[in-house]
Amino acid sequence: MDLAVTDRTRLRRKKERGHFDWATVSAILDEGFVCHLGFVDDGGPVVIPTAYGRIDRDLYVHGASANHALRTTASGMEACVTVTLADGIVLARSAFHHSMNYRSVVLFGRATKVEDVDEKRRAMLAIVDHVVPGRSTDTRGPTEEELRATLVLRLPIVEASAKVRTGGPIEEPEDLSLPIWGGEIPLTLNAGQPVADGQGDTRVPAPAYAAAYRRPVR
Ligand SMILES: Cc1cc2nc3c(=O)[nH]c(=O)nc-3n(C[C@H](O)[C@H](O)[C@H](O)COP(=O)(O)OP(=O)(O)OC[C@H]3O[C@@H](n4cnc5c(N)ncnc54)[C@H](O)[C@@H]3O)c2cc1C
Repeated sequence: MDLAVTDRTRLRRKKERGHFDWATVSAILDEGFVCHLGFVDDGGPVVIPTAYGRIDRDLYVHGASANHALRTTASGMEACVTVTLADGIVLARSAFHHSMNYRSVVLFGRATKVEDVDEKRRAMLAIVDHVVPGRSTDTRGPTEEELRATLVLRLPIVEASAKVRTGGPIEEPEDLSLPIWGGEIPLTLNAGQPVADGQGDTRVPAPAYAAAYRRPVR
């Protein structure tokens, strides 16, 4: 089911770049792994970058039980989470028309602290797998103590928008006669070779998901 457009998710600028279909929104959320969590603190707005995971139509973030951003957000206030994929740098002939190609999601809602231990465990593993698919089955699962030390928040993916820009620069016709290069520098995420930490059993080889890490993962 696609997402309903609300007053705050309706794009006012460049409406044609807006997407509210689940396929587009979920694909962006699944390709990214860093979100920015925005909330209002006593002193004003705060935006904190953090990892996240997704299970169906819920987005999960986690941190230490003392985490200020998570504790503040869990108090029931409205929050806003963004995920950004930078796909290219767009070079125009004028400084004014320089731009970026991107896919991004803006998600609004109230986050809830996850109290159920099984859901908490699933969410923690989902975050591990979101960043490195397949990793959770290779890891030692969280202990009761580790679960207690972790605060997990669930934010339903209900009120969200995606925005996508593709293509080259928008140019003023008169600028096209200038001897200036215009176009796009495509961007991709490149992972380096895994570096073993040298601890424990050093005979264990780097797993395929580490040796050939890439995004999008599918
Ligand atoms: C990597 C990157 C670089 C950008 N650089 C610039 C820049 O330099 N200058 C600039 O003006 N804009 C830039 N943008 C676009 C920017 O995110 C806004 O979409 C744009 O500035 C319009 O802002 P607004 O507040 O007028 O949006 P409005 O259209 O008023 O926003 C209304 C609603 O539309 C949705 N929405 C708006 N923007 C986005 C988005 N990016 N992704 C998902 N939903 C969205 C939200 O739900 C929002 O509440 C960039 C975007 C990205 C991802």
